[in-house]
Amino acid sequence: MNTLKPCPFCGGEARLPIGMDGNPVDYEVTDCTCKSDDCPIAGYWIPIKIWQTRPIEDTLNKRIARLEEKLAELVEVGNKMRDLIEQDYDGYLDETIDWRGMAEEADDVLQEREE
Ligand SMILES: [Zn+2]
Repeated sequence: MNTLKPCPFCGGEARLPIGMDGNPVDYEVTDCTCKSDDCPIAGYWIPIKIWQTRPIEDTLNKRIARLEEKLAELVEVGNKMRDLIEQDYDGYLDETIDWRGMAEEADDVLQEREE
């Protein structure tokens, strides 16, 4: 069984209908809905194929992944620059530019996005 995507309205867990045998009915051929009673689409049964199709969300997630890769590269370049500058100036620039702090801030932003 594949994993159902979370509800596009509330982020809640999706639910499959329960068959006569007490188990969820076949994933590939059934509908699903949101488990949350407070959700505006709770109780509306939506075909799996439509539920799982999120072109805008998928595009944005790919873009976020590419941007996170670029940011990680920039942090790495910044760290290398800092190391080279520290070698040449023996810590002088640490007092004027907080390279390490900037890299840590960028990393914090990445961490927050993942939460
Ligand atoms: Zn929902």
